[in-house]
Amino acid sequence: MDLITLFEKLLRFRSITPEDDGALAFIEGYLCDFEAVRFEKEGVKNLFLYRKFSEGPHLCFAGHIDVVPPGEGWESDPFEPTRRGEWLYARGAQDMKSGLAAFLKACKDTKDFGGTLSLLITSDEEGEAKYGTVEVLEWLKENAFLPDYAIVAEPTCETRFGDAIKIGRRGSINGIIEKIGKQGHAAYPEKAVNPIHKVAQVLPYMAGVDLDSGDENFAPSKFVITDIRAGMGVTNVTPGKLRMMFNVRNSTQTTKEDVEAFVHRYFREMDYTLTLNESAKPFVTDRTSRVVRDLVRAIGEVTGIEPKLSTAGGTSDARFFGEYGIDTVEFGVINDTIHAPNERTSIAEVENLERVFARVIANF
Ligand SMILES: [Zn+2]
Repeated sequence: MDLITLFEKLLRFRSITPEDDGALAFIEGYLCDFEAVRFEKEGVKNLFLYRKFSEGPHLCFAGHIDVVPPGEGWESDPFEPTRRGEWLYARGAQDMKSGLAAFLKACKDTKDFGGTLSLLITSDEEGEAKYGTVEVLEWLKENAFLPDYAIVAEPTCETRFGDAIKIGRRGSINGIIEKIGKQGHAAYPEKAVNPIHKVAQVLPYMAGVDLDSGDENFAPSKFVITDIRAGMGVTNVTPGKLRMMFNVRNSTQTTKEDVEAFVHRYFREMDYTLTLNESAKPFVTDRTSRVVRDLVRAIGEVTGIEPKLSTAGGTSDARFFGEYGIDTVEFGVINDTIHAPNERTSIAEVENLERVFARVIANF
């Protein structure tokens, strides 16, 4: 089966999170030379495939078979890959069945490798990701079989194929502050405690402020206010409570405790409560790690481009590999239509992606 036929086959599975629509069984059959371990929990399906070629390091390719719902506005069936010119349109074309097709083909064609090659595929990356990649990594840890290196094939390129890889990701901390006041009549402000007036005084020191100065890998972690509400929609009552929501996309320099201390610095004089939730931890792989160097080299060989090493954007399952101490990088096709109607990628990008992965395996 050639690469593009394989890619189209994957795109036809209606694998909306957490369904795989039979895709994992197909993949298991496709890579029949690999040992397979299946994981199923709470409707989430994961597949781990491995093959020990010789003694040596363990390299894992990782990705998700699930896609987000297609939504409205498609010009062709989102689950029937449609070619128009150089483009192939379907849900998951960029995010990330292109990446899956590329590493599946590269692994299938591998005859020789200086260690163990594995693949970790989940059906729950776009959802809660609770029983997805983490479930498999936990099992690998218990069995002392964690990979040394991982390549996650998420779409990372910006405007040209080969222009960016990700060597880490920022974390994400969400918070809710509730400032309690005392409701009253607008004409008697001295008898009330107006939480809007109190909070307004500290906002200039908090809104959009950098919590660290960033470094070579990360932009500064910003305190971003996403919602403030109080009041009853009338002009003659001052409210008894104000609720403010915020998000911090944090670098490795700023922790949950730092965010808590930052809020406390400005709210400590006030009656308030703070709820913090760290939905993702930041991670970064050292620029000198072998997997970074090997990937950059392979991209150079295939495209002649030196990619930038980025940590920008939202979170991905790469963070879980980072948490288990695995040197992890992400590389895939251009990301400009993911989760949108008429998601598409070019045939040439998918072919080049497969070449890059094949180079990485050959050079390893
Ligand atoms: Zn993705």
